[in-house]
Amino acid sequence: MHDVIILGSGPAGLTAAIYTCRENLKTLVITGSQPGGQLLLTMDVENYPGFPEPILGPELMDRMKAQAERVGAEFINGEATSVDFSKKPFKVTVQDQTFEARSIVVATGAIAKTLGLASEEKLRGRGVSYCATCDGYFFKDRSVVVVGGGDTAVEEALFLTKLARKVSLVHRREVLRASKILQEKAFENKKIEFIWNSIVEEILGDEQVRGLRIRNVKSSSVSEIECDGVFIAVGCRPNTAIFKGQLELDGGGFVVTRTETGTNIEGVFVAGDVCDPKYRQAVTAAGSGCKAAIDVGRFLQSG
Ligand code: NAP
Repeated sequence: MHDVIILGSGPAGLTAAIYTCRENLKTLVITGSQPGGQLLLTMDVENYPGFPEPILGPELMDRMKAQAERVGAEFINGEATSVDFSKKPFKVTVQDQTFEARSIVVATGAIAKTLGLASEEKLRGRGVSYCATCDGYFFKDRSVVVVGGGDTAVEEALFLTKLARKVSLVHRREVLRASKILQEKAFENKKIEFIWNSIVEEILGDEQVRGLRIRNVKSSSVSEIECDGVFIAVGCRPNTAIFKGQLELDGGGFVVTRTETGTNIEGVFVAGDVCDPKYRQAVTAAGSGCKAAIDVGRFLQSG
């Protein structure tokens, strides 16, 4: 029996673990399918306080994990397959193993959204990617397209300019959503071509991506672009499928909070991107992990 099980090992989960361990609570972290969370797919992190020089996302997560281990957190590498929050102790199952705890922190984060095209599914891993840091190397001196206009899309495009011969960014509007500093970097980069007001209708290719068919949403004109790879960066959705019917979720699938980090179930707390459609930053996730851990401590003390 653990005092707390933390589901997820991104900045929210690991910060929660550091805090619960330092309160002397027996803490188990179930890492999820991507230990370290979305920062593993990020390159230079320039906005996490304490690092005057950029730090690589995976390195930042390694350090957080080492810190949580040093203060006594236990880890299970794997994804929770089901949970039972209907009675105490709460139960979390990872394949054939079930773990029990007096409280829970849900910090399962979010994953990349798809465009929902059949051709995207068919060519996934054959030129369609959701992570430039992971797959960019395969497109050295090739031509690639990034789809999206947020921070992720612009970061991916900038990263890809270091490898690819040509980078085009296809965005459905004519204004980027990305932060001003990233926009400036992208506009200054001569290797990035912007294709505005356009949506992807189809990803072309049989065995491998060879191009895109796009439609201009203003003129309705349809055209084809040749490319060897497509990086899709159109946002993310929360990992909450296993909580359906137990935790209250909003229309987007994000966990609804009742108090700062409390859910509809007493003793089950939530932190990070899984409950945050608005800020979704490493530092805000870490901050909410800290709050959830403090709330766990108060809850266990009162019980
Ligand atoms: P996001 O901010 O939600 O942006 C998604 C982008 O994709 C938007 O430009 C959106 O267009 C476009 N889009 C959405 N659905 C689409 C579709 N079906 N077809 C075509 N385009 C579509 O997502 P994100 O860029 O992944 O960022 C998520 C969060 O992480 C944000 O809070 C961001 O600030 C943060 N983040 C921060 C950093 C950093 O600070 N270094 C890096 C990465 C991410 P519209 O603009 O028209 O809606």
